[in-house]
Amino acid sequence: MSQPASAPAPGRPQNQLLSGTGTTIFPVMSALASQHQAINLGQGFPDYDGPPDVIEAAAAALKDGRNQYPPLTGVPELRQAVAAHNLRFYGIEVDPDREVVVTSGATEAITACLAAVVDPGDEVVVIEPLYDTYVPSIRLLGGVPKIVRLAPPKWELPRAELAAAFTPRTKAILFNTPMNPTGKVFTTAELAFIADLVTRHDIYAICDEVYEHLTFDGWKHIPLMTLPGMRARCMRIGSAGKSFNLTGWKVGYVTCDASLQPNVAKAHQNLTFTTPPNLQRGVAVGLAKDNAYFEEFAAALQAKRDLLDAGLRRLGFGVLETRGSYFITTDVRPLGWAGDDMAFCRAITEQAKVTAIPNSAFYAAANPPSHYVRFAFCKNEAVLQEALRRLEAWIAADGAKAG
Ligand code: PMP
Ligand code: GLN
Repeated sequence: MSQPASAPAPGRPQNQLLSGTGTTIFPVMSALASQHQAINLGQGFPDYDGPPDVIEAAAAALKDGRNQYPPLTGVPELRQAVAAHNLRFYGIEVDPDREVVVTSGATEAITACLAAVVDPGDEVVVIEPLYDTYVPSIRLLGGVPKIVRLAPPKWELPRAELAAAFTPRTKAILFNTPMNPTGKVFTTAELAFIADLVTRHDIYAICDEVYEHLTFDGWKHIPLMTLPGMRARCMRIGSAGKSFNLTGWKVGYVTCDASLQPNVAKAHQNLTFTTPPNLQRGVAVGLAKDNAYFEEFAAALQAKRDLLDAGLRRLGFGVLETRGSYFITTDVRPLGWAGDDMAFCRAITEQAKVTAIPNSAFYAAANPPSHYVRFAFCKNEAVLQEALRRLEAWIAADGAKAG
């Protein structure tokens, strides 16, 4: 029986961390984009489809009678494909039965890996700007985030500050390379510095590597796990969403040592238990694709990056270098914009009909920079060109001077 509308809401407080957190910026900006019929260069998803053979494999898998709960750690086809992919691209030998956990997206994988090692009160070092689930996930587990900030425009690792963030209570470091939103690809020297801290403090590393195949200009992704001493300490996270243009599928995969895998699997068991089996079998076909697929995939994205990068520069944006990921960070001050990044994103959505993401959404500590804006280039080239035309008209009409 339905309750009368006037029934009072319970007075007891709900979870304070969630009550105190807003909805993540990505759907907020996507909703604003549809409301204003704007071209959406905000939320990072391609406007083109994934590989037909991967989609066919998932569709066929729906019809062959394996539609009940798959194995907890993932279907054997996908675990074997994750292991083979690790060996082919990085020379990492992986036992598919004891060192892989398939999850419902990298988002779940991040929480599962944190849960595998973090006890209440443990500190987790994170590198800012950061993906916006990191800090709430650490806090929900009772962990304490220790935030180290990279400085634009080069986003170099501030080594002394990073070293100072480690204490006897540090349990793990969680970081992202290739990096959203900066487009940074961590260098071997930076990774060696992190590896040394991880070893000296006897901690774990959670490596968010969802953009592993999205690197440009000869930059190559290096998993921290491949550095000396790191094999047993790292949990390496990949995502089919990013590697195969299938962001809605939410299939992620964790590779980690057999000593860590049981806890990651138990965290997954308590979060979602399993991930849709047909999608897993499609992703297994994707990970087995030949090297040409991965090379052409990166080259096609690089062409899109080049188009948007050159176009935004021509319009007068301050464009920061993007070495990997789906994203370009721009400084909007050279356009004459005096307001903040959120006001800029609202203005271009409502007036120019182009949507972007304010970079301050990627900061959890106080006083984030407020004049950087992120544009996604994983879109058809005609769409990128039209977005540039719209921005050009808006700038010509002095739209950017109004901020
Ligand atoms: N980490 C980073 C850095 C991301 O940009 C994303 C974006 N989706 C994720 C994790 C989550 O990936 P998934 O969609 O597979 O959950
Ligand atoms: N990772 C994507 C981005 O940074 C969005 C993911 C999401 O919408 N939760 O744009």
